[in-house]
Amino acid sequence: MRNYNFSAGPSMLPLEVLEQVQKELLDFNGTGMSVMEMSHRSKPYEAINAEAESLLRSLMNIPDNYEVIFVQGGASMQFEAIPLNLNAKKADYVLTGNFASKAFEEAKKFADVVAAASSKDKNYTYIPTLNAKCFRQDADYVHICYNNTIFGTRYTSVPDTGKIPLVADISSCILSEEIDVSKFGVLYAGAQKNVGPAGVTIVIVRKDLSDIASPSCPTMLKWITQIKEKSLYNTPPSFSTYVSMLVFRWLTKLGGVKAIQKINEEKAAMLYDFIDNSDFYINKTNKPDRSIMNIPFVTSSEQLDNQFISEAAKEGFLTLKGHKLVGGMRASIYNAMPVEGIKKLIEFMKNPVVGDI
Ligand code: PMP
Repeated sequence: MRNYNFSAGPSMLPLEVLEQVQKELLDFNGTGMSVMEMSHRSKPYEAINAEAESLLRSLMNIPDNYEVIFVQGGASMQFEAIPLNLNAKKADYVLTGNFASKAFEEAKKFADVVAAASSKDKNYTYIPTLNAKCFRQDADYVHICYNNTIFGTRYTSVPDTGKIPLVADISSCILSEEIDVSKFGVLYAGAQKNVGPAGVTIVIVRKDLSDIASPSCPTMLKWITQIKEKSLYNTPPSFSTYVSMLVFRWLTKLGGVKAIQKINEEKAAMLYDFIDNSDFYINKTNKPDRSIMNIPFVTSSEQLDNQFISEAAKEGFLTLKGHKLVGGMRASIYNAMPVEGIKKLIEFMKNPVVGDI
């Protein structure tokens, strides 16, 4: 019996993919072993690695002048890899939440870093209005977090940074909506939301920015180390990459990012409409900046929130507790959350049996 898991990550994987993994677990493709047991220098694994890259390239329409690598360390490791790889003297950050701020704090260790804009004044419930004048013209890059997992906001357009390379953390929105890769210098994302199991991290970097790292950048943090070796410089997170490849196949079969974006927009609209029309639940984010992946909401009291979360869990709606920085609830509705999961959650929310309401 599978539950609806609203976790912010690791989160649901498509059932079809899990079944495929199950089928191939003991014997992958006639090799007599699972991918977990397989040398990363073997032909079957090289094929998985190559297919993962080529499917991702076509799903995201990644231009040829961009490198794609699969690395370890999570998105968090890229927080420090970015200033070192871009050999930055100056960098401008837009602070729209916890992860944007963490990235900012890491970069401060290596460069002259400033907060070009912030939405902290309203507990990160909105995306600041930005234009090229917000940034220092001699900055080596501008960093944004495209979708803010904890606070439930997202950019709906790519900020204009003029000639300054734009770097974006797309951990919680990768493959959920179409984005124009050519507008960015670097994109990065941990896998554990829309891509696959935790353990693999995707970095997409424009070629002219891929080999300019500071000489003191550790070998394992340097993008060029993995670029030269097609992500096989050292032992990769092979099982995570294999499952991610299956997710890319699943998404391709479904019609790609354009198709899933339509479904994601419908799912989010259903839940937001229900919350907005209810006198019991509130979503505090600025409407135009609302995320279609992470939807935080509260009731009128912490006690009711807690009751809601425990009643929901009894009905199979799991991990709805909001992040401690926001409180209340959060429904993370990534690509693998079926439409039916949202419909059933809404039915439950109409009558959550939380005491005398
Ligand atoms: N950025 C964003 C937007 C995230 O949501 C997360 C994780 N939830 C991270 C960075 C950190 O990712 P990781 O745990 O892979 O280091």
